[in-house]
Amino acid sequence: MPELPEVEVVRAGLAQHVVGATITSVEVLHPRPVRRDPRGPAGFAAALTGRRIEGARRRGKYLWLPLDNGDALLGHLGMSGQLLVQPPGAEPERHLRIRLALEGAAEGRELRFVDQRMFGGLSVSAGGAELPPEISHIARDPLDEEFDDDAFVAKVRRRSSGIKRQLLDQALISGVGNIYADEALWRARLHGERPGERLTAAQVRDLLGHARGVMTEALGQGGTSFDALYVNVNGESGYFDRALHAYGREGEPCDRCGAPVRRVAFMNRSSYFCPVCQPVPRRRRTPLAGLSRTPPPD
Ligand SMILES: [Zn+2]
Repeated sequence: MPELPEVEVVRAGLAQHVVGATITSVEVLHPRPVRRDPRGPAGFAAALTGRRIEGARRRGKYLWLPLDNGDALLGHLGMSGQLLVQPPGAEPERHLRIRLALEGAAEGRELRFVDQRMFGGLSVSAGGAELPPEISHIARDPLDEEFDDDAFVAKVRRRSSGIKRQLLDQALISGVGNIYADEALWRARLHGERPGERLTAAQVRDLLGHARGVMTEALGQGGTSFDALYVNVNGESGYFDRALHAYGREGEPCDRCGAPVRRVAFMNRSSYFCPVCQPVPRRRRTPLAGLSRTPPPD
């Protein structure tokens, strides 16, 4: 599944190859990827045809292309989606779903949405050029210049839920994803079940710095590629996976202490951690035990 650095690589590719181009025709080969568009496949195509692409932007794992009429083409890659820029004569991909013919800056090219599993999709966001209303509830990501570190630290420390769950909460911080969460936690030596309210501000700040570091490194290397289906806008796979310390390394020695990395089930997925560097938090006191303590004087 593409994570934020991969999506950012795609965004940068789109900025380079399609901004300034005009969409001359749209072909929807399967209705499912445009299911979020209330206009339906024909309306989706009509709303895009003749529009000029003004930019390529991102919020978390959502991408959008602002259009010259104030609308936007909004996209999410889901589990297996790809946005490819291809010459129009190129052989159709096996899972090609949507094809946009472009003219202008990217003369004689096509923007193609390819998606085997079709959890992703495209839609036209009315008035969404600046920020599509469909995604305005999604928090900024830590690579965003306007991300508010202090507000993040304060919010995390007010919540009792585990720190990994919080890292994956898109309303709090977007784009971190399972792989980068595990890596950042490994670097910060924190177990993902540690409750936010029991971390110090310095620990949360340190973890945020590691999340940013992991993601920045992945970005520099073209992203992680665990899913063979994922390729970036030009069809190149990322290769950050060689640099991972925790994710996908069950049973292998921790790069820091040598203890075997453990895997546990987590929200229908997996969490990987070093049981020595990232000790499982002790259980909270039971309410009964709490009651037996003498309350402090006011
Ligand atoms: Zn370790």
